[in-house]
Amino acid sequence: MELSVVVPVYDEEDVLELFAARLRAALDPLGEPYEVVVVDDGSRDATPRLLEALRAGWPQLRVVRLRRNCGHQAALTAGLDRSRGAWVASIDADLQDPPELVPVMLTAARREGVDVVYGVRDDRTSDTWFKRRTAGLYYGLMRREAGADVPADAGDFRLLSRRVVDELAALPERHRVYRLLVPWLGHPSTVVAYRRDERAAGTSKYPLARMVRLGTDSLTSFSARPLRVATWCGVLGSLVCLLAMLTAVGAHLSGATVPGWASTFVAVLFVGAVQLLCLGLLGEYVGRLYAEAQHRPPYLVASDTADERRPTRPAS
Ligand code: UDP
Ligand code: MG
Repeated sequence: MELSVVVPVYDEEDVLELFAARLRAALDPLGEPYEVVVVDDGSRDATPRLLEALRAGWPQLRVVRLRRNCGHQAALTAGLDRSRGAWVASIDADLQDPPELVPVMLTAARREGVDVVYGVRDDRTSDTWFKRRTAGLYYGLMRREAGADVPADAGDFRLLSRRVVDELAALPERHRVYRLLVPWLGHPSTVVAYRRDERAAGTSKYPLARMVRLGTDSLTSFSARPLRVATWCGVLGSLVCLLAMLTAVGAHLSGATVPGWASTFVAVLFVGAVQLLCLGLLGEYVGRLYAEAQHRPPYLVASDTADERRPTRPAS
C-alpha cells in the first residue's frame, strides 16, 4: 500500500458524494495502490448509508465507524492509527481542501525527500472576519509557545510519511493537536500552498465552543506560560495590596481615617477576580492531567470494513 488518505467525517451527507468523486478522480490516475480511510465520527444523518453505497463501487474505500462522536482530532487519530500506507494524507471532507492536491503533495515529498508536506492556505478570504482574526491570534501564539516552526495557516491538510505516523502513534499523549505535534516532531518538511475554498455544502462542525476547546487544548498541551502569568498576576496583586495596606495604616496613624467602603469593595472584587482567574487556569491544566491520567482511549471503533473483508481463499 503506497498511500492512505484519512478523512474524518461528521454529518457530511450534503457533500460526501461530490467529495468522493473528486478524490477518486485525483487518486485513480496515480496508478499506485491506495486506500481511502473514511472515519465516520458518529454521524447521525445519511452519511453511513451513503458510505455503504459508495463502497460498493469503490474497492479502495474503507470505512472506520466510531461508536459516537469523538471529535475531529480523535477521528483523525483513529484514521492515522489504522492507516497502512507508506504515505498518509489527511483531508477534510467538505472540499475546503482540494483533493487534487494530494498527488501534488506526494510528488513534492518524493522530489524533496521530506517526511512532511503541509497544506498551507495562501489566503483566507473565504473565512469570516472573526475566523481570520481568531486564527491569526491562534497561530501567532502557538508559533511562540510550541517552540517549533508551526507553519501559519496550516490546518489538518497534510501528508506524512509512515515514519512520522508511527512516531505519532507511539506518543503516549492521548488528546492530540496534530497541527502542533507534527511540527514539534521536527522532521524535514515542505509546504504546498493552496486557496482554501468555501465549504462546498453543509455547515461547519466547528462552532465557537469547539474552537475555544481546540485553543485551550493547544495552549495547555504546549505551554506552561499561562500558569506563570497567573503567578505574576498574584505577585503584582500582592504588591498592590501591600501598598494599599501601608497607605491604610499610615492614614489610620495620622488619624485621617475615612469610611472608605469604596476602596474596600474594589480591593475585594479585584483580589477575588484575580484568584478566580488563576483557579480557572489551574483547572485547565488539572483537567488535562486528569484526562491523560485516566488513560481512556480517545476514540471508540465500532467497525472497520478492512476487518470484514478478509479475502476468502478458494480451497485447493
Ligand atoms: N469533523 C469530525 N468530527 C467532528 C467535527 C468535524 O470528524 O466532531 C470533520 C468534518 O466532517 C470535516 C472536518 O472534520 O471533514 C473539518 O470540520 P469542519 O469543516 O466542520 O471545520 P471547519 O472547516 O469549519 O473548521
Ligand atoms: Mg471545513
